[in-house]
Amino acid sequence: MQIYDVVIIGAGPGGLGCAIKAVASGLSYVLLEKGQNVFQGIVDSYPRGKKVYPTIPKNSKGPFPITDLEPSASNEPVEEYVAKIDACVAQHGIDIAFNEEFQDIAMEKDGFTILTKGNRYAARNVVLAFGSNIPIDLGVYGEAKTIARKLDNTEEHIGAPTLVLGGGNAAADVVSTLSKAKRDAGDQTPIYWGHRKEQFKVNKEVARDLGEEILLGGNIKILLRAIPKIGEVDEEGVDRLLIQTSEIPLGKGVELQQGMSFPMKHVIACIGTQGPAPIYEQLRLQMITCTEGICRIGREGARLILLDANCQTSIKGIYAIGGAISPSHIVVEEKGSFQEVKHPNLIFTAVRGAQIAMDDIVKRMRDQPSA
Ligand SMILES: Cc1cc2nc3c(=O)[nH]c(=O)nc-3n(C[C@H](O)[C@H](O)[C@H](O)COP(=O)(O)OP(=O)(O)OC[C@H]3O[C@@H](n4cnc5c(N)ncnc54)[C@H](O)[C@@H]3O)c2cc1C
Repeated sequence: MQIYDVVIIGAGPGGLGCAIKAVASGLSYVLLEKGQNVFQGIVDSYPRGKKVYPTIPKNSKGPFPITDLEPSASNEPVEEYVAKIDACVAQHGIDIAFNEEFQDIAMEKDGFTILTKGNRYAARNVVLAFGSNIPIDLGVYGEAKTIARKLDNTEEHIGAPTLVLGGGNAAADVVSTLSKAKRDAGDQTPIYWGHRKEQFKVNKEVARDLGEEILLGGNIKILLRAIPKIGEVDEEGVDRLLIQTSEIPLGKGVELQQGMSFPMKHVIACIGTQGPAPIYEQLRLQMITCTEGICRIGREGARLILLDANCQTSIKGIYAIGGAISPSHIVVEEKGSFQEVKHPNLIFTAVRGAQIAMDDIVKRMRDQPSA
């Protein structure tokens, strides 16, 4: 297996910045992206037509570290910015491995093995540039765990009952958008809206849209106390999700459990995101728990990743940058003391992190070619 100088996880501004630097420095690299597009995180999270600002935080100085990734001063809409980035990928000859979802890192004698859902890569260095939006795991048992986390295309669900999981605005939005699409297509198949609690939490505007959908004939069925249980592969090889819909005690510890099973491709989970602390924990990277004396930005009890001044984690050769280390992290100073450092989640800070981490990797590779 080829050993790359660096494996970069996530093709957002931070990860793409690293790849551009790797090309410029003659380092071999792989850029892994779980989505199908460069800047997938931005494509997924920015509202259509949103202006992109080239904000430089107050305590930092310009210029923008990699000019080609700088949003224009005229605050271009996100579609134009992403089109510019597509052109930049082609111009720099950046290779991106799409649909490659990072899962784990194993330590080896001379570097790391990086595992994705379907592949493994060997590298001397790794940059974690997966941003801050880590989907919450449904926590189901079984082999099939892939869940569609968002509504990419309403047409995929026309003609099929669909399960939407989640109790907040995002789930409610998906339910009403999908219901309208089904009505427009004359499709009577239901949308099951499942939530593990007994009450939904949506704001007025979203509730109004949803109410309108129901009044206009949307086939929406509500499942309260619906708990995702098992991800299984059926006899025909279809990935399915089994949810428990009711639990009736029959006495003496016996329960009658009822459930429903949906093909995974018709499950949309809007159950929110979390920071990357659980991944750092899984990778055994050192974190510091915020207490009053240490943190001013991180809330009490939050676990912040420990980095050196070059964005290197407690494991030599693993770096973390961008949204993955925002809004603050702990920097271990030369004297050995710890300091919480504010890190605004901006395109500028992600690209600057890429520059700092890659400069350090290049330096270490030159000083010790086996690093
Ligand atoms: C609505 C909104 C508006 C914003 N507006 C601005 C603005 O105007 N100006 C500005 O400077 N900043 C803005 N920001 C912030 C800016 O988008 C982020 O700071 C920036 O995108 C962070 O870059 P990143 O590379 O660290 O992470 P991301 O952009 O999140 O990129 C991470 C990439 O990693 C991929 N990924 C995640 N997990 C995995 C995995 N397991 N395996 C492989 N790939 C993975 C994701 O798909 C994604 O493509 C905005 C943010 C939001 C949410």
